[in-house]
Amino acid sequence: MPRFRPSPPGTRISIDAAAAPARRASRREFLAASAALVTSAAVMPRPAIGQTAAPHVVVVGGGFGGATVARTLKRLDPGVSVTLVEVNRTFTACPFSNGVIAGLRVITEQQFGYDKVVGEGVVLAAGTANLIDTQARTLIVGDGVRLRYDRLVLSPGIDFRWDALPGYDEMAVERMPHAWKAGEQTLLLQKQLEAMEDGGLVVISAPANPFRCPPGPYERASLIAHYLKTKKPRSKLIILDAKDAFSKQRLFQNAWKELYPGLLEWVSLSNGGKVTSVDPSTNTLVTDFGKHEAKVANVIPPQKAGRIAELAGVTDRTGWCPIDPVTFESKLQPNIHVVGDATIAGAMPKSAFTANAQAKVCAAALAKLLRNEKPAEPKLINTCYSLVAPDYGIHVAGVYHPANGVLTEIEGSGGLSKADAPPDVRKLEASFAEGWFKTITSEVFG
Ligand SMILES: Cc1cc2nc3c(=O)[nH]c(=O)nc-3n(C[C@H](O)[C@H](O)[C@H](O)COP(=O)(O)OP(=O)(O)OC[C@H]3O[C@@H](n4cnc5c(N)ncnc54)[C@H](O)[C@@H]3O)c2cc1C
Repeated sequence: MPRFRPSPPGTRISIDAAAAPARRASRREFLAASAALVTSAAVMPRPAIGQTAAPHVVVVGGGFGGATVARTLKRLDPGVSVTLVEVNRTFTACPFSNGVIAGLRVITEQQFGYDKVVGEGVVLAAGTANLIDTQARTLIVGDGVRLRYDRLVLSPGIDFRWDALPGYDEMAVERMPHAWKAGEQTLLLQKQLEAMEDGGLVVISAPANPFRCPPGPYERASLIAHYLKTKKPRSKLIILDAKDAFSKQRLFQNAWKELYPGLLEWVSLSNGGKVTSVDPSTNTLVTDFGKHEAKVANVIPPQKAGRIAELAGVTDRTGWCPIDPVTFESKLQPNIHVVGDATIAGAMPKSAFTANAQAKVCAAALAKLLRNEKPAEPKLINTCYSLVAPDYGIHVAGVYHPANGVLTEIEGSGGLSKADAPPDVRKLEASFAEGWFKTITSEVFG
């Protein structure tokens, strides 16, 4: 008896209990469309070895990593039943969201649906993955619907370490937005900047490593500085940093000297940049060296793997997930794979490019593992573009491979924009950045 009947292409299931009226139809849809999936998944006995059955892979997180795994695996082996669990109906992308904050783009340009993913035969389970029973290989979604998996993939992105920065809690984000998960927070920061009078002080607090998108705080600072320079030129921007060095540092700092002299100041860890506490009631950021009362405060807090990874038992003491660099299987729990920001990926930075690359490797490994074949040793590429101004792009790139159990950068493979490149090259790089965003989002969601 088969464990699952593979759901037909186009199947969506909606799981969260607190459904708005508009979502009740989806719940009925879920009950009908997913009866085969959930009922048989939870109740039917496993087939005897040799019996044909569609293996079931559940992927949690429909972002750059998860949606790519689901789609790639389905393409590689249409016989595998793939369910994608995602809490949001629409995905809002972080790359290029700094442009929204600086008034250069609108948020809808960041938003993508799952129609095309579903159209390829992936079952979309709309809801929050809450609990994982690794022994029974089941996953609880929403208010108690159980999905059984042969292999589980987690790509939940990041969560914030609310205990790490005194004063910064879930309430504080309304006053001092992080905007490090794109959406409402992005718009809040953009509105605060728009409402600020000319002459105001903007402060960005950047965390220690590791965190999502290493060049992200500096791209954000650059684009906010561009906004201030063009709209509110008497204002000032300070980056308070918990580090002494950062990604593409020389390129950023050279560009700041050229484009934003006197407007943008970077304060390193050694110079008292580390924020030790905040007071949202006065918009104050405190360091060992003093206090900064900001008109607009953007606090990017310390981070960890998305909470479901912790619940699955795949995080270690660092709060991130150690993985096998060939299969992306957790080093702590068998049959659970982790990709994207949540992983400890050696030299690979936490980027959408990385998450997408890891996801393809993981999907290829899963297709092999499900056939009891040996996955191939991968090579992975990452390129991170940053905009320092709308027509000023820079990049860093690297190629990585497994070496001694970790992902290591292949010697001599890396590349960085030239320090002395002329303006037309910077402009070209800005267009490459735009091209990259269009390509990756259409590959993952289009
Ligand atoms: C300001 C900013 C700029 C950036 N710019 C770039 C850039 O230019 N280039 C680049 O490559 N990267 C960039 N990044 C980084 C990039 O956004 C992340 O590295 C990437 O999104 C990681 O992919 P992921 O799949 O790990 O997580 P995500 O893309 O965040 O996806 C995680 C998904 O999981 C879902 N989820 C989480 N938990 C659950 C659960 N329990 N149940 C159901 N669903 C769940 C979430 O809703 C989300 O949709 C930027 C990031 C920021 C903040």
